[in-house]
Amino acid sequence: MIVIMLGAPGTGKGTIAEILSKKLEIPQVSTGDIFRKNISEKTELGKLAESYISNGKLVPDDVTVKLVEDRLEKDDAINGVILDGFPRTVAQAEALDEILKKTNKKVDVTINLTTPEEEIIERVVNRRICSKCKKIYNLVLNPPKENGICDNCGAKLEARADDNEETIKSRLKTYFEQTSPLVDYYNKKGNLYSATVSQSINKMGPDVANDIITYLEEEK
Ligand code: AMP
Repeated sequence: MIVIMLGAPGTGKGTIAEILSKKLEIPQVSTGDIFRKNISEKTELGKLAESYISNGKLVPDDVTVKLVEDRLEKDDAINGVILDGFPRTVAQAEALDEILKKTNKKVDVTINLTTPEEEIIERVVNRRICSKCKKIYNLVLNPPKENGICDNCGAKLEARADDNEETIKSRLKTYFEQTSPLVDYYNKKGNLYSATVSQSINKMGPDVANDIITYLEEEK
């Protein structure tokens, strides 16, 4: 099954993708995580990606599409993947369709997440990620038991370099200009599932993940 996680930064794509990945037993493929790994390992790809990521801009389509194409060829992706943060432009979505066609696959479901903008900014500035197992925390909504330490593996928690108020504004602008047209793109294909993740309606990532699982089971 090919699942796409669509939504502005801070809507909970990563949290929900992690839950779905465990439940559906297919890997979570986060282009953002792959770029951050390359940045920390100081690879050529990392150097290139950092110049865009630090400004809240998108890494060029050709680079990103090649990376995903290579990842989809790995053995563990044979039964499908949860694409977390890809595609982010219509050109990427079209390229993905072509890649999947080669193995008679298609996008099965696109999860479109929305969150009020003021909540997004608060969530992003309070987001912390485990430096080792990459578990996601929020200092207000989902804090670790021990300050700065991952409950899962005991490693140190860190903030992402691009999770600051200035960069998030630019990332949101990029989302509305370049990524949001994908809502229409997948809606027209008839595979869009939309959900709101928000404190104001008391529906956070894990609740929405449960709704998605119920929906997928009913669709079977
Ligand atoms: P994320 O972890 O998904 O929030 O991604 C962090 C950053 O990585 C984004 O703000 C972009 O700069 C870059 N990035 C991640 N996925 C993509 C993509 N599909 N296309 C281009 N840039 C991406």
